[in-house]
This record gives sequence, structure tokens and C-alpha cells, in this order.
Amino acid sequence: MRALIVGGGGREHALAWKLQKDQPSIEIVAAPGNPGIAALGRCVPVSADDVAGIVRLATNEKPQLVVIGPEAPLAAGLADALRSAEIPVFGPSRAAARIESSKAFAKALMREAGVPTARATRFVDAAAAKRSARELGAPVVIKASGLAAGKGVIVCETMAEADAAIDAMLTNDSFGTAGREVLVEEFMEGEELSLFAITDGTTVLPMLAAQDHKRLLEGDRGPNTGGMGAYAPVSLGSEALVADAVDRIFLPTLDALRSANAPFSGLLYAGLMLTAQGPRVVEFNARFGDPETEAILPLLESSLLEPVLAVASGSGLAGHELRWSSKHAVTTVVAASGYPDAPRKGASIKLPPPEGNVHVFHAGTALDSAGKLVTSGGRVFAVTAVAATLDAARRESARVAGAIELEGKQLRRDIGWREQERGAGASRN
Ligand code: AMP
Repeated sequence: MRALIVGGGGREHALAWKLQKDQPSIEIVAAPGNPGIAALGRCVPVSADDVAGIVRLATNEKPQLVVIGPEAPLAAGLADALRSAEIPVFGPSRAAARIESSKAFAKALMREAGVPTARATRFVDAAAAKRSARELGAPVVIKASGLAAGKGVIVCETMAEADAAIDAMLTNDSFGTAGREVLVEEFMEGEELSLFAITDGTTVLPMLAAQDHKRLLEGDRGPNTGGMGAYAPVSLGSEALVADAVDRIFLPTLDALRSANAPFSGLLYAGLMLTAQGPRVVEFNARFGDPETEAILPLLESSLLEPVLAVASGSGLAGHELRWSSKHAVTTVVAASGYPDAPRKGASIKLPPPEGNVHVFHAGTALDSAGKLVTSGGRVFAVTAVAATLDAARRESARVAGAIELEGKQLRRDIGWREQERGAGASRN
């Protein structure tokens, strides 16, 4: 069994680790991978965004499974190209990935399907967008419709901020093509929850709910990042809430995608806002989230490989189930100095000795010309501790993340603080 993993971050390291745990004899090939994944398999220097290069690699390697990690190759049609070459792939078509790559498409689809979400209107004209923002009143959310690497959403406390965000996107082109169309969106109040589901387009296998921490600084302050940590499970994500989300959010969305000639298979990720009126969708992603994946997968006791293969091969998910550990997982991201604006690349790293219940997933790491481990991106590691209580998982995750030697490293020691304040997170046995 050979599996090709497309991507080279912490998410892909966690996917590779879990697939190999499920089937120790599996041969992992990663493009481009990273030094952490290289310890589990073979890394090939083909960029995840190089659709033709990945198709060539897959045609040569003939994997039984390709798992696409990041959103950009999905939006560029990598899954379609692989399917045309008759290579089994876990990941949606370009048309279905629009649920993530076009916020305007996602909004229209949700409106038609009656999926609960914030009211929003799309604009290409700045003056009209500003009028709409005034009608909604502050706070209001301005979003670039296209893929903007997690930076295209601005929550505006005042009309002056909303005007500036609209001008940046529509008038000054600061977000490139992603910002040529904007959504002016109603602000939703509540706690956020990340809910992943493996799906063949009709059957939905929801995963354990997680919560991530997007802000750079402790207490959820400072600039937005790709994510500074995550934890799972979240007590707010009860079985009843998840079942409700499957019925009112996932299934109608999948039906609507099918009706739009864009059937979705792969991993559908709903970012939910738990409002006073119930869960509402903040956004959909068409792939595993990062760093939630690094928190969730170590708690998955049943196989990930089996359902993923069932989706990729087209045999379907009927009869498949996921089984979870009763423990808690906390993931602390170790970021490079200067992250998120200008992360320092090439800084040397020294890792502490490995420990049993703590996974150090590599994200932005590389080997320099002398073979030494150095930083190559903003988020450098995702350190996941698994323990019987949330408190113990938090302590262990922060301790091991703190023991990584990296000059100017940034990390939050408060991952999971909301759950701790709720008094949840005791042993679930
Ligand atoms: P997104 O990229 O759409 O997930 O948005 C990034 C972040 O912006 C979300 O995780 C929320 O914290 C915030 N956000 C987006 N849309 C809204 C909204 N309508 N109301 C409140 N916060 C929002």
C-alpha cells in the first residue's frame, strides 16, 4: 500500500503519522513533505501547488491513495486531474472546493439550502459596499471572497474600519484578485467551534469537535494568525450539537453541492459560531484544518485510512464508523520570531528528546546545507500532548513546546483556556 500526501505542514505530518499508525507497512510518499514526514517515508521536492508536477509524480508512483492537504491545489483542480488519470484521491473537485475558494459561492449556496449563517451581500463596488455596511451597523465583517491565506477577513468595530477594509480590498487591491469581490457580513456573537466531517458526498462521518486559537497572544489578543493552537474535545460540541449540525448544516450543504453539479467528497470542515439562535456557519473549508488536525487525529482510535480509502476509491462510507479515545489533546504551535508578518527563516532548532504521549509535528522546518534542522516558515511545530485531563494535556503540551530550542520562538501557554474556565475537561472515563 502506497499513499501520496500532498503538502508539507503540520497537518500533513499528522496525516502521515496516523495513516502509518493505521497500517504500519504503508509506504508514505510526500510532496514536498518536511523533515518530520521524512522520518516516516519519502519526501519528493514537488511543490503542493504544482498540479502538473504532482500528477506526473502520482503517475510514476502509482499510489493506491492520494490525500491532498492544502486548499490551493484543490482550488487549482488537482483532484480532478488525478481522477482523470484514474488515481484514487481524497479531496474534492475544483468545482466542489469553491465552498472554500469562493466565499460568495458558499454564501449563495447556504442561502439556497437554508443553512444557518450570517446575512451577507457581495459587492464589487466600494460605494455600494460602504452603504451596505452602514445598513448593518457596527460591528460588521468585511471579507475578501477569494482565497487569502486566512487573512481576508476583517472584523470591524467602527464604520471607519469598515471603510478602510473595503477600500483596501476593492480600491487599493491590497488583497489581489481574492479581494476584487467582497462580502459585507452581519457580525455573529458566540464561541467558535471547528467541526470536520469525512464524506463521500452523501454519508457524513463527523469527527470530534475542536476549538482553535487564531490570535497570536495569550487571552486571544493580538494579530490573527493561521492558528497558534487547538484542543479537542470541546464540551460545547456535544453529541446532540454535532447531530444537529449534521442534519441542518452538513447534509443540506452536500445536497446543494450535488444539485449545483459539484458533488463534494473528502473532508468538509465547518467553522461554526455557537450563537444564541444555535450553531451558524462562519465558513466552510474543503480540507483538514491546521492546527485542529494535529489535535484531533491523536484521539482517533479507529482507522483513518479505511474511511479515507473508501471515499477515494468510490466504495462509499456506508457501514464505516469512527471511534474516539476518551482522553484530551492540546496542540501548542511553536512559531518563528517575526511571525505572522515576517517569520525568520533559517534559524537553527534543537529538539528535546521524544516522549511517549507528546507528538512533535513538523510544520515550517527544513534541513540546511549541512543537514541541520532550521526554520522555513512561520509556524514551525505543532506540539500535541494527549492526557486523561485537559489540565494535564495543557501542561504537557506547553512544557514540551517550551523545551524546543529556537531563538525568538513564540508560543501560547494558554491553549484551551476557555474550556478550562468552563470547568470542563475532567477525565472522561
Ligand atoms: P473565516 O476566515 O471566515 O473563518 O474568518 C476568520 C475569523 O473571523 C473567524 O474565525 C471569526 O473569528 C471571524 N469571523 C468571520 N465571520 C464572522 C462573523 N460573521 N461574525 C463574527 N466573527 C466572524
